[in-house]
Amino acid sequence: MAQFDTIVIGSGPGGYVTAVRSAQLGLKTLVVEKDTVGGRCLNYACIPAKAVLRSADVLHEIRRADEFGLQVQGVSVDFAAVQQRRKDVISQLTGGVAGLLKKNGVDYLSGEASLAGGGDVTVGGETHTAKHIILAAGSVRRAIPGVEYGGRVIGTEEAWALDELPGSIAVVGAGASGTEIASAYARLGANVQLFEFLDRVLPSEDVDISRVANREFKKQGIDVHVSTKVADVQTTDDEVTFTFQKGDGDKVDGRADWLVIATGRAPDVEALGLDVAGVKTDEKTGLIQVDGRLRTSVKGIWAIGDLVPGPALAHKSSDEGVIAVEDAKGLDTHPISYVDIPRATFCQPNVGSFGLTEAQAKEQGHDVVVGKVPYGAVGGATVYGESGTIKIVGEKKYGELLGGHIVGAKATEMIQELVNAKALEGGYAEVARTIHGHPTLSEGVMEAARAADGWLIHG
Ligand SMILES: Cc1cc2nc3c(=O)[nH]c(=O)nc-3n(C[C@H](O)[C@H](O)[C@H](O)COP(=O)(O)OP(=O)(O)OC[C@H]3O[C@@H](n4cnc5c(N)ncnc54)[C@H](O)[C@@H]3O)c2cc1C
Repeated sequence: MAQFDTIVIGSGPGGYVTAVRSAQLGLKTLVVEKDTVGGRCLNYACIPAKAVLRSADVLHEIRRADEFGLQVQGVSVDFAAVQQRRKDVISQLTGGVAGLLKKNGVDYLSGEASLAGGGDVTVGGETHTAKHIILAAGSVRRAIPGVEYGGRVIGTEEAWALDELPGSIAVVGAGASGTEIASAYARLGANVQLFEFLDRVLPSEDVDISRVANREFKKQGIDVHVSTKVADVQTTDDEVTFTFQKGDGDKVDGRADWLVIATGRAPDVEALGLDVAGVKTDEKTGLIQVDGRLRTSVKGIWAIGDLVPGPALAHKSSDEGVIAVEDAKGLDTHPISYVDIPRATFCQPNVGSFGLTEAQAKEQGHDVVVGKVPYGAVGGATVYGESGTIKIVGEKKYGELLGGHIVGAKATEMIQELVNAKALEGGYAEVARTIHGHPTLSEGVMEAARAADGWLIHG
């Protein structure tokens, strides 16, 4: 039996960041991982997805080369090389995580960890003890009613690791993961159908953002079906057949080489021994119940990331890990404003957002002001050949930033400015009067803020 101050279960962006912070605080720390260092984010999810998307983005740029006076001939996709690059990116970054753990003196143990009551954790028949246990076990794919995984029915992680470029792919769920898969494969050359049960793509984004994204997806050749239910899924060795039905309309037969379920995830709690330790979960969602400092119902045990409520995002998991371990150490740590966590979707066009949509802000009774500009309002967009929309949702009374919504090139980067402004207690009037470099796309953010403040200059 080995004795630690902190045992972290899981080595994803939640677990490894927690472990490094724990070690920085002078705590003797162990990370236990049942699969591969770096967790799902680095090995199967965020990072591989973005690596393949990057290939699609480069191809997209090359195809537009003539707009910039360049003639490029003989462009083709070497999908094996795309996938090799994905693997190389993963191994470089997971190697980096292993290095960070080592550099910070964190012990690493390979194996499946279970809570054994008190401060005990069992791994492969051995028991280790800690004063603080932090659960960072992440999430697993979830099926949809009536559809089982297997054969040609796959989850989002598998979708990024296909050996061959599919001729056709059907994606169920047009949220962040589904639209990323659809937009990558469509641009790489597959026939893509995208199905969404709700009435628009990216249904949790502001409606103006969904509208622009939908238009651009169609331009990429994606066959988009909203308000549509997929059922009767049958898989063989080489194809999957299904039906799809829009509202109360007729059922239509569909087929694809692969059907990807991209409708959400469930916490990976099965092996954790939550019952043994007495850690309470939410009956409906299965998520672990925590307070604002990520403390579970059991003293000495914290839970973070995809295991607990809030958006299932890597950066949310990392931040929660920092809070949890600082709380364990007895520090006065920072609270999270969950609605203000930036949301980044790397489909084409990029989508970056935070805070409330215009509809949510109105529903909540705010005196809403909106500043909305096209990318073309500022010179940079024309110079770089980019289009899109920037929308700021504010509260009139104090000039508060309630939300930011950007669709277009670099939206996932540009949204951060508004997140930071809000975190530093700035409103749209402050963003409107902050000098931005020229010619940049982010000048458009300043113009949207000026529009909200009633003095749009360019537009
Ligand atoms: C396809 C896809 C793309 C995504 N893209 C993005 C993105 O671009 N940006 C973003 O912010 N988020 C993205 N996400 C969400 C993101 O992957 C998760 O929010 C993030 O991985 C959560 O981090 P985590 O550390 O909590 O868990 P994970 O990354 O899931 O890591 C948990 C680790 O715990 C291990 N584990 C589980 N149980 C045990 C046990 N009992 N013992 C030992 N080890 C255990 C698992 O093996 C795993 O390695 C994406 C998700 C998917 C599926």
